This record gives sequence, structure tokens and C-alpha cells, in this order.
Amino acid sequence: MTKQVRCGRIIIGGGAPVSIQSMTNVDTRDSEKLLAQINALEAAGCDIVRVAIPDEAAAKSFAKVRQETEMALVADIHFNYKLALAAIEAGADKIRINPGNIGSDDRVAKVVDAAGNKGIPIRVGVNSGSLDKKLLEKHGGVTAAALAESAIGTLGKIERMGFDDLVLSIKSSNVKINYDAHMLVKEMTEHPLHIGITESGTPENGRLKSAIGIGSLLLAGVGDTLRVSLTDDPVNEVIFGRRILESVGLREKSIEIVSCPTCGRTEVNLIEMANEAEERLREIGDRRDLLNLKPLKIAVMGCVVNGPGESKEADYGIAGGNKEGLVFAHGEIIAKVSEDELIPTLIDIVSKDTTKKNCI
Ligand code: SF4
Repeated sequence: MTKQVRCGRIIIGGGAPVSIQSMTNVDTRDSEKLLAQINALEAAGCDIVRVAIPDEAAAKSFAKVRQETEMALVADIHFNYKLALAAIEAGADKIRINPGNIGSDDRVAKVVDAAGNKGIPIRVGVNSGSLDKKLLEKHGGVTAAALAESAIGTLGKIERMGFDDLVLSIKSSNVKINYDAHMLVKEMTEHPLHIGITESGTPENGRLKSAIGIGSLLLAGVGDTLRVSLTDDPVNEVIFGRRILESVGLREKSIEIVSCPTCGRTEVNLIEMANEAEERLREIGDRRDLLNLKPLKIAVMGCVVNGPGESKEADYGIAGGNKEGLVFAHGEIIAKVSEDELIPTLIDIVSKDTTKKNCI
């Protein structure tokens, strides 16, 4: 198990729930827009928000916004150690630096001392795009071993400064290299790991790579906090991060829908029906979360081959027939209705379910 560090109100590592991070993409110098985006990320379920601090005006804006939010805030600093010092002074809950571009060891030490005095952790990031030339020559390019060696070397450098409050991130845009590098470092360090696939791309490709890259690590028991990096609105990174955690069973899904792929036996418009059910049940699921109601499994099935079986396994379900279908509740058939009435009937019975969590 990894060690624990605290990032504001969030614990990272040591068996704490895997937290979701994202990063703001508005101009940090615009404090109003920055705060609005942090609030939007929080509403979407984000646990930790990273903010780029490229100059002094951004550091000032960050300090102002810090006063307005309880969100765990990470200051992301490149090149200028003084900006890291300003962000720590402003109340950052964690600092993300790349020691390779902060400058001399002396400057890195100043940042490390300041973080130590405030009791905040530092995330050191190793990225496939910025590997040291010597390591690239030694390993013949960007390899998992090169990333792992770079990460462990960087951690060692800061540990020798007497600082242990560290989070490590290793990121490659190559899912396989990313996975292999984590398998190597997990045996070499106890520091918590921030996982993700860097520069994973536009929404469709990025989601695919992130689901495989992050999901495979989580299933292997690796990863204490995650970020889905998408060329998209950061709120979508958070929503998808949550879906990854739900899919690997690390977060409860308020409503899980199982639906069949349809085939030549399907006699209802199941594709449209499943999409409509998902859309309408999302809102009901959010409400159930707020009211602490029991998670539900809903089956939306095309016919009587697997339909009744899946529907009986679920809390509620429907199974299509010839322009009509059966409605199930807790394994029992409760109605036979026309195709048009299947989804409205399903939504109606799910809406009326007020079973509390842990209620048997
Ligand atoms: Fe086909 Fe019925 Fe299976 Fe759906 S449940 S894929 S309609 S056989």
C-alpha cells in the first residue's frame, strides 16, 4: 500500500478513495473565470483542481481565488521557482513541479523547504515528452524502463533534501509504455501515484485511451488519484474519470444500466429506447445520490432470449417482444405494455423507488 499525503481536504494514497483531478484551462489571471471554472468542476464531482501559474499576475489571481474556495488546489509550476514560492505562500494545497526545468538544485531545494514549512506535498511529474537526453540514449528512446528510472531518480533527489511528502506521476501518451512503467515503479516506491494518459487527444480517442490506460492500472491495484486528459472542456474530464472509477468498481454507480446489443430477433426500437432510458435515468441517479438511496441496476433488453433473465437479475427491467414488452420489478413481471409505453413505465417505477442505502 502507498503512503498517504494530504492535499487540502483530500487524502491521497494509503487506501483512501481514488480521487479525481482536472486542470483549469481559462486564463489564470482572470480570477472571476478561474473561480467559476473551479466551481463547475466541483459541481461535476472533481476532488482536486490543478491551476497553471505561468506568471506573477497568475500567482496573484490564484491567491485571490484561494480565499474563495475550499477546493483542494494544486499550483502547476514550470521554469520559475519564485512562482512556486508565491503559490505556496498563497495557500496552494500541493505543488506540481518538474524538477528538470525549475533550475539548479538550489532552487528546487528552496521550493522543497517552502512546501515543508507549510506542510504541503509536492507532485513530481515525469513525462515521456521531457525525458532527459542521457536516459533516452541509455534506453534507446522513450521506454518504460527509462520513465521508471527517471521517476525514481527524481524522487531520490528530493528525498535526499529531507522531504518525503511526495506524489509521483509518470505519464506517456502510449498506453502500453504507460502501463509497463507503472508496473516497474510500483515495486520501487511507496509514494502515492497520480495516474493518467498524457496528451490522450480529442474526446473520442482520449476517452478510449484513458479508459484502457487508467482502467487497466486501477484493476491492477495501481493509482491513488487520476486525471483524464482530454482536448475538451475539463468538466468532461471529471465526468469521464467518474465513469472509469464506476466501471472498475471503485465508485458506486447510482444507476447501472445493462442493455443488449440488439440482433435479428429484436422487434422493438431498442437502440432508441436504451438511449432514452440512459438520458432520463441520469437525472434520477443524481437525485438518488443526493438522497442517499440504494444503487439500482436496470435492464433494457430486446427480447425474451436474455431479456427476462437479465431483467430478473436487475432491480427493474424491460424485455421487448413484438411491438410490446414485459416490465419487471425485483424479478417479477408487473406489466405487459405496448412498445411506446415501455420506457415511460420503467421511468415511472424507478422514480417511485425510495429504498435507502443498506436497506435489505
Ligand atoms: Fe438479441 Fe434478444 Fe439477445 Fe437482445 S436479448 S441481443 S434481442 S437475443
